[in-house]
Amino acid sequence: MRNFGPQSRPLQAAFVAACAILGSVAVLIAVPAASSVNSPDIGEARVSFGGHSARIVEQVSYRDGIERIADLALVDGHPIGAIDNPDVEAAWAIVDSVWPNSIRPNLVQLSIVSERPRGLVGVVHLGVNGGWILSLDRADLGDEVLVKETIVHEIAHVATLGPDSFAFGNDVPCGGVSIEIGCAAADSVMARFAERFWPDAVATGLSSDYVDEYAASGPHEDLAETFVAWVSGWPIGSSEVEAKFELLSTDPLLASLAATLELQLG
Ligand SMILES: [Zn+2]
Repeated sequence: MRNFGPQSRPLQAAFVAACAILGSVAVLIAVPAASSVNSPDIGEARVSFGGHSARIVEQVSYRDGIERIADLALVDGHPIGAIDNPDVEAAWAIVDSVWPNSIRPNLVQLSIVSERPRGLVGVVHLGVNGGWILSLDRADLGDEVLVKETIVHEIAHVATLGPDSFAFGNDVPCGGVSIEIGCAAADSVMARFAERFWPDAVATGLSSDYVDEYAASGPHEDLAETFVAWVSGWPIGSSEVEAKFELLSTDPLLASLAATLELQLG
């Protein structure tokens, strides 16, 4: 999740304690709605199947106050047919300009919601088949920089919280590094990041240790915001943040995505 504006003022003086009010990154590995089995519910997320014509659209329930407007099913990261909703069309144009080809197949759905400017902005949910659902708030679509930065943030989640290296929920044994939302596989970049920069699972209290306030809300949000700062070239004068950049750059997938995104964002 990313629920605030772009940080044109990195390293703000004000430190904000862990941001737990919105349930952190909203992700759920769900089972088909027809099943009575309850899967782990992380944050406010709940995904279920919903049939629409011949397509399968997964329905995500959001936190209170967020209205679901429209969905766009994707195959190999591209729309199946013509787009007939102007909000979807506007959102898709931005997503299509940013989302790297190398992880296109990971994106299975774009959903449009309606809340308020600089409220939700964007969120990703893990769908039933391991693909990701990206939701964007139409209230922000006019702010292209904000939306693009948010997409980059969500891409960082997709790259580091996927089923191959992360298990959501806290009710399973963790052989790697446990964080608030689940278990990062040993030696994964999420595990290494959390281990090194969040050894006590709490923020340090030093604003200069984070690229912005939201980064201090948890290790996975810190990783995602740090990735945005790295890709976007935010001016950073902190050795701690430089160390975070360095750690992210050791992950082949993140390094490759960063190189692509730097080009695409110009
Ligand atoms: Zn996030």
